[in-house]
Amino acid sequence: MRCLSCHKLSVETFCETCQTNLLQASVSKRVVGTLEVYSFFNYQHIEDLLFTKHTPQGFKVYKALAQLSFKPFMQKFTQESQEKVYVVGVDEDVKSGYAHVALLTHEMKMKNVKVQHAKLMAQNKVNYSGKKLQFRLENPRDFVYTGKKGIEVILVDDIITTGTTLIEAASVLRENGVKVLFGLTLAGVN
Ligand SMILES: [Zn+2]
Repeated sequence: MRCLSCHKLSVETFCETCQTNLLQASVSKRVVGTLEVYSFFNYQHIEDLLFTKHTPQGFKVYKALAQLSFKPFMQKFTQESQEKVYVVGVDEDVKSGYAHVALLTHEMKMKNVKVQHAKLMAQNKVNYSGKKLQFRLENPRDFVYTGKKGIEVILVDDIITTGTTLIEAASVLRENGVKVLFGLTLAGVN
């Protein structure tokens, strides 16, 4: 098979060179509302890869990117903290054959880390892609949380643009007695 980034022959989804280059992308931090959000990649840096989202290749791309970012992050996180923590993905809804965010949260499963799949679902399936902030504010996602209460949660989404989705998601979790520790996203748009 071929590397999904440079298309050279490779046994892995991304060849060794591309793995190294992708990993050079540093983690960035933003604060939206009262929530700290960390992004592993700069959106522009991996834009071509993210465009595969709604193609059959998207499954492999998301899984491989999550293994390069979310997984090592959580391995480090659990070394530093022994507390039990939960993970909630934003709207783990199946589109184009798979739930994109669920691929990210799946890689976070480990000792002391419990992933609650598909527990924070949007009632409003409006597409925010390319929409301005005003439109996003006027069309909230109307999340419904059906997970455990009284827990500490890391909130996960694939892409952060304006931050309105994560602000709304965090506020719904808090209304349900959940403490949101921070947000994690695969890519951030600057
Ligand atoms: Zn490559």
